[in-house]
Amino acid sequence: MKFDVMTLFPDMINQACSHSIVSRGIENAIISVNTWNPRDYTKDKHKKVDDTPFGGGAGMVLMCQPYFDCFDAIEKKEDTDVILLSPQGETFNQNMSDTLARKKHIILICGHYEGFDERIKEYTNAREVSIGDFVLTGGELPAMCIIDSVSRNIDGFLGKIDSAHFDSFYDGLLEHPQYTKPREYNGMPVPDVLLGGNHAEIAKWRRKQQMIVTYKKRRDLFDKFAKNCKNKEDLKLLNEVLKEFKV
Ligand code: SAM
Repeated sequence: MKFDVMTLFPDMINQACSHSIVSRGIENAIISVNTWNPRDYTKDKHKKVDDTPFGGGAGMVLMCQPYFDCFDAIEKKEDTDVILLSPQGETFNQNMSDTLARKKHIILICGHYEGFDERIKEYTNAREVSIGDFVLTGGELPAMCIIDSVSRNIDGFLGKIDSAHFDSFYDGLLEHPQYTKPREYNGMPVPDVLLGGNHAEIAKWRRKQQMIVTYKKRRDLFDKFAKNCKNKEDLKLLNEVLKEFKV
């Protein structure tokens, strides 16, 4: 997977990519992350990339020329996905992340200041994506969220030990509670079932806990899961959970 990130602040991306599992993914050539600075493409002698908005108003708007030329410089493939980070876009989620992980090339266009001249969206034919209903100063953190999340779904990116298989949202439920050593801390014990070594019992307990946690924290996800649940074992556990919560 190749990520090309258009940003006025490449250090923000390069720094974030130089740690932990993302940096290991780059070292192992599972992903590559390249930055492209529109400021390097400006034809303005002062390297200007933004200007005041037509019609008046506060802030500065990113200009077409440096963004068009920077975008043109990036080599595209047949299935290149172009994403423009914007609080107005469709909200990023695990489903979108899974779908994007099947692509080979993603271009992420980060805004700043008041955002983009509208014609940049048209020219790049980009899909607008938001990471939530709040406004940040720039698209670099959202771009990193997408790079990080999409990469986790790519085969070989996570070692077996960090498998995404039971993570929250993976199959519509949140993750079960996790415990580590010691067996007891401050008078708080780890549930007995996790210490007994009976793997079938542990799997059953974890699956049921996923349902309980999701019921308590995200009723919207739980209801969707319950409505679509077809697996026999899951249905049995689901009924137990519904009975316990008297639903
Ligand atoms: N004036 C814009 C508006 O009200 O829609 C907001 C511009 S914001 C201050 C500057 C840039 O940060 C945006 O162009 C976008 O790239 C990025 N950004 C801010 N919030 C975001 C969010 N929730 N999701 C994705 N990108 C965001």
